[in-house]
Amino acid sequence: MKKKKKKICYFCGKEATQGEHIPPKAIIDKNRKYTPVVVPSCPVHNSELSKDDEYFRWFTLSAAADDSLIKTYQFKKMMRQMKRKPKLFINIARHSVIKEVHTKGGIYLGKVPIFEFDRDRVQKSVERLTRGFYFSHKGLQLSPETEVSNFNFYLEESRNGIFELIKKNLNYLQLTNEIIEAIQSLPINIIQEDVFEYRFYIDKENTSSSIWFYMIYNRLLLTMVTGTFKQIDS
Ligand SMILES: [Zn+2]
Repeated sequence: MKKKKKKICYFCGKEATQGEHIPPKAIIDKNRKYTPVVVPSCPVHNSELSKDDEYFRWFTLSAAADDSLIKTYQFKKMMRQMKRKPKLFINIARHSVIKEVHTKGGIYLGKVPIFEFDRDRVQKSVERLTRGFYFSHKGLQLSPETEVSNFNFYLEESRNGIFELIKKNLNYLQLTNEIIEAIQSLPINIIQEDVFEYRFYIDKENTSSSIWFYMIYNRLLLTMVTGTFKQIDS
């Protein structure tokens, strides 16, 4: 008989002792039904990173906030917390403006919220999404040596624009039309409707190469790429 295989942490590969919710419960509306993804986690990658969850919620809500979102449960909760932690909120909300952004080549990327936030801290949360979903879909860990790109984020005006926006993003990343079409045909995975949906592509030959699109609150699109990135000398 085979020994029962030890569960490994989705993030570092050490022995897992608990389960980690992907995405963090903090950004889900707990009053509504949702389909959580739970991956095995070591104590470090369960507790160490969880202090970033609250910050990630502030980031996503601040970036995505519009009139309809402000009426939601999550936003009301955030406003209650604001009263307890005014400094954190002020840091995010201060100087918050919406700006139209173009690439150097002139491609219009959409309206992006410009506000001060700790990019490294949000990066940790987005990396956790990517490593967590990778683990859940592939059934194995994305090796710790595999690099993850800096995340990009874009604001969408409406749900129907998602496809167009993804196409623009991919043009920006200079991928071929073939890959763009392949990604547009990928199914959308729904954790909670209107709150967290995502799609991804994992390269079939080089399985550490993948691209991820997270649509949060129907408005905020985060993208991340994994793989081995070569330095381009010019
Ligand atoms: Zn770990």
